[in-house]
Amino acid sequence: MDIHVDVVVVGAGGGGAVLGLALARKGIRSLVLERAPGPPHGIRGEILQPNGQRILDELGLLDHLPDDAVRPVRHFHFRQVGGGRLCSIDYGELPPPYNRALVTLPHAVHRTVLGALKKHNPSGLWYGASFVNVLKRDGTVIGVEAEVEGKLLRIASRLVVGADGLFSKVRDVLGIPTTLHRYAESYLVAILDCPERLHEAQYFLGKEEILGLFPTAGDTVYLVYMIKSESMDAIRAAGVEALQKTWSAIYPDLSATFQGFRNWEQAAYMPAGQARAATWVANGAVLLGDAAHGMNPHASQGRMQAMVDAMSLADVVPSCLAEDDFSETRLRVYETQRRPSVDMLQRLADEEVFFWNTGNPLIVWLRNRVFSTIDRNRRLKYQVLTAKAGLRETSPFVGILDRLQAAGFVPDPCANQPPPHVRS
Ligand SMILES: Cc1cc2nc3c(=O)[nH]c(=O)nc-3n(C[C@H](O)[C@H](O)[C@H](O)COP(=O)(O)OP(=O)(O)OC[C@H]3O[C@@H](n4cnc5c(N)ncnc54)[C@H](O)[C@@H]3O)c2cc1C
Repeated sequence: MDIHVDVVVVGAGGGGAVLGLALARKGIRSLVLERAPGPPHGIRGEILQPNGQRILDELGLLDHLPDDAVRPVRHFHFRQVGGGRLCSIDYGELPPPYNRALVTLPHAVHRTVLGALKKHNPSGLWYGASFVNVLKRDGTVIGVEAEVEGKLLRIASRLVVGADGLFSKVRDVLGIPTTLHRYAESYLVAILDCPERLHEAQYFLGKEEILGLFPTAGDTVYLVYMIKSESMDAIRAAGVEALQKTWSAIYPDLSATFQGFRNWEQAAYMPAGQARAATWVANGAVLLGDAAHGMNPHASQGRMQAMVDAMSLADVVPSCLAEDDFSETRLRVYETQRRPSVDMLQRLADEEVFFWNTGNPLIVWLRNRVFSTIDRNRRLKYQVLTAKAGLRETSPFVGILDRLQAAGFVPDPCANQPPPHVRS
């Protein structure tokens, strides 16, 4: 073997970087391998939900996010394309201090995490290092083979972590059966200057049409627009003016912002996919984040859940080391702890795909009715908010009764019930 460490993490994305940092802070010898030549660039925005804020706080990073790249947002308004307001969500209802969403400029959180990782473990992250295969002895993973600067290296480790995203190669070579699904709709995202100064998030839902607008630092706006998957060529061919016109028709208040969308360098295509790995653990190996459970972006939780996985796994590793046990059975503790909330979010996001992305007039009618009913039902609204915020493990609709009440078919005697932390 060329190198020996305790843990090899494949992938320095949202989950892998946090895991590398959390392990370094515990003094565990770890190495993160990232195939990209350096930290990520390019357009993408992100909503740091309360559960992600809590993790960054635990890592001592929340107060170190750059002020000029992060904007707290309290109110999210859901609106009907060509119609009125459907529902407004107020993060201020949540218990402090994480009672707001943080909308960030591209990679602001990720760079902060990478900076801290470099400080705690200066040689703990290798760029340009591609995972090739796992090394095994008697059926147990004992390390990885990676290509680094054109050379094949053999790295011995007690644990190999596949944090290499939706199309995980680690998962493939471990032979873990996985259901992979590419959604019919994906997203065009952009960061635009916003002369009109948007203060609250606006999310427009129409017939097969979604436009999300989130205020970002420095009077910019993070725009998310649903498009058919693989349709980017056709959209480019139609030209930026077509999008300016479409967006201005949806939200005339930001016409000047949309006029500022002049070239394709201001936008990026982000495909949406889902992965459901049959198991997240093997003898000497685990999966985390999108590799284990990629979910539709409607959940607004993909990266947050990768971070929660990382923290949860980092808590398990010290005892595995102490007991000299990285068996599948021992590692199952991590999966058992994490699966329920992830399964719930995947299901919730898929329900949202069904109701939000639709062009079917009956489903649109029902969707709008649910939004409007929830807007008047403080109890249900809080349950939905806590799911989005990553603060609950169970569905926001506890049973069939909640669903009937959400649809306005059955009255809810508890509709005015305040959030638990407000009740005395
Ligand atoms: C439009 C859109 C908007 C989204 N918005 C949000 C949001 O607001 N909030 C949120 O929480 N989530 C959001 N998500 C989801 C989020 O982006 C993902 O869930 C998250 O990035 C998953 O993190 P990860 O670490 O599991 O994987 P990734 O971030 O995909 O990281 C995987 C890493 O592994 C590396 N890698 C891959 N193969 C290899 C290899 N062979 N060797 C070495 N390295 C390798 C890759 O280069 C990459 O750096 C959004 C997704 C989309 C599509």
